[in-house]
Amino acid sequence: MLSNDQLDRWDRDNFFHPSTHLAQHARGESPNRIVTGGSGVYIEDRDGNRLLDAFAGLYCVNVGYGRTEIADAIAEQARELAYYHAYVGHGTETAITLAKMILDRAPAHMSKVYFGLGGSDANETNIKLIWYYNNILRRPNKKKIISRWRGYHGSGLMTGSLTGLMSFHNKFDLPLSQVLHTEAPYYLRRPRQDMSEAEFVGHCVAELEALIAREGADTIAAFIGEPILGTGGIVPPPQGYWAAIQAVLEKHDILLVADEVVTGFGRLGSMFGSDHYGIKPDIITIAKGLTSAYAPLSGSIVSEKVWKVLEQGTDENGPIGHGWTYSAHPIGAAAGVANLNLIDKLGLVENAGKTGAHLNNAMTAALGEHANVGEVRGEGMLCAVEFVKDRETTTFFDASEKIGPQIAGELVKLGVIARAMPQGDILGFAPPLCLTEAEADIIVEKTVQAVEKVLG
Ligand code: PMP
Repeated sequence: MLSNDQLDRWDRDNFFHPSTHLAQHARGESPNRIVTGGSGVYIEDRDGNRLLDAFAGLYCVNVGYGRTEIADAIAEQARELAYYHAYVGHGTETAITLAKMILDRAPAHMSKVYFGLGGSDANETNIKLIWYYNNILRRPNKKKIISRWRGYHGSGLMTGSLTGLMSFHNKFDLPLSQVLHTEAPYYLRRPRQDMSEAEFVGHCVAELEALIAREGADTIAAFIGEPILGTGGIVPPPQGYWAAIQAVLEKHDILLVADEVVTGFGRLGSMFGSDHYGIKPDIITIAKGLTSAYAPLSGSIVSEKVWKVLEQGTDENGPIGHGWTYSAHPIGAAAGVANLNLIDKLGLVENAGKTGAHLNNAMTAALGEHANVGEVRGEGMLCAVEFVKDRETTTFFDASEKIGPQIAGELVKLGVIARAMPQGDILGFAPPLCLTEAEADIIVEKTVQAVEKVLG
């Protein structure tokens, strides 16, 4: 076994980490953690720490760590058949079974699943399918895609463009020209403090209408959104938001992509966020919770309406020119089947609703009135605390004070991992869906201590 010093050197000399301050890391200034194991909601690291992972990795280890049922299914699949491709109608029993299991759980109007590897490539697939769709319908100009500021849809060329966070654009020559951004449904950050929630929804709708009018509805193909904003701050939509947005999209014949990479398979206490908020998407993006991250796998679930046009396209043009070597990888599919069975067996969708409500209520009771808390918000097994300098006027701290990262740093020292969300002083919680009430109480108790440490 390598010594800690050696591992540290090899890491800094060889390993290009994603979403990392490269220079600080190379100089040994930034924290790093070498994770060695996990069980339930806890992970262990090489320094002997046992930490409650209140962000489930990157909100993906939904069934928790150390599930032997999934490990065994992966091993069995690898022994039997590690790989075969899915091109030209090929497949495996495992991938076919998983496609059926996904459609059995998805909203009734959904029709087929295209498998990828991660959320980013699934959303890249979605945009290609939407462009193909409009070409087949002889609408070659209807191609632009609208996403929201603070939406997160990946970090590829198109998906990084759709992501409405500046750090994913700056110095990368993004966003691409086909992408348009509109107002985030973020009531705390509404343009005027005296706006009611209903007025704010009206404002979001008016912004969308104005954008469509400016660009021309005949140039706009689709709108993409997460049922609840995730990486942009864990922000549930204001009441009535989705119904109002969908009415606009329908009027202008604009497709709707529900990016359910975080919300799919139970995180909100419903199987899909679309069910939860009454969204009727044309395409649904899934990843993370599909396998609980035991193996990489994602999917684009297309509706019957989209599928019919894709079929027509191949009758006119031949096989669809879109495929990954690892589409429907049997090992990912084996992890997916075992994971979905486990979610059912353990009742994790129900637990996400019940224990998630306990977490949100307890966090609100503990911190909701704190002088530097602007809002405690959440839904299901998602929760966020947003810190402000002055709660009466909703004045935010200067980013240079790094209040969110400081609190997250103190919290880790107390044994709990939360995530300092990238834009604002927002502490995010997205624990595994198997969290117990006792574990939720630990998260709240330690968060209060970390907040006191930084803000008094
Ligand atoms: N969509 C959403 C809503 C996400 O949260 C993420 C990842 N956090 C992605 C897409 C991209 O997924 P991946 O990192 O697997 O490419």
